[in-house]
Amino acid sequence: MLLIPCPYCGERPEIEFSYGGEAHIARPQNPASLSDTQWAEFLFMRGNQKGAFRERWIHTHGCRRWFNMLRDTTSHEIYAVYKIGAPKPPAPGEKPAAAKKPATRARKGASK
Ligand SMILES: [Zn+2]
Repeated sequence: MLLIPCPYCGERPEIEFSYGGEAHIARPQNPASLSDTQWAEFLFMRGNQKGAFRERWIHTHGCRRWFNMLRDTTSHEIYAVYKIGAPKPPAPGEKPAAAKKPATRARKGASK
């Protein structure tokens, strides 16, 4: 049995959890402007890679909170568990993400 370390409760057996699919899928900024094909891409198309993969999980029979997990899809090794909104931890062999500047609403050249 796989033991999953819930970031809120600690290590628990996998039967307490439910899989929520790929993590970090950004909702389109303006859904009304998407074509049917683009909307279908957003709703249904997901990565299915072999190896390190970022996924959403919920502790269904515990704290009932969502979190993200970086897991190897072939060995089931869990590399990291992190809360929703936390920065993505680097996958093995991946460089850590550079710290992002805070997002600004103003676009370059938009001021008049
Ligand atoms: Zn929990």
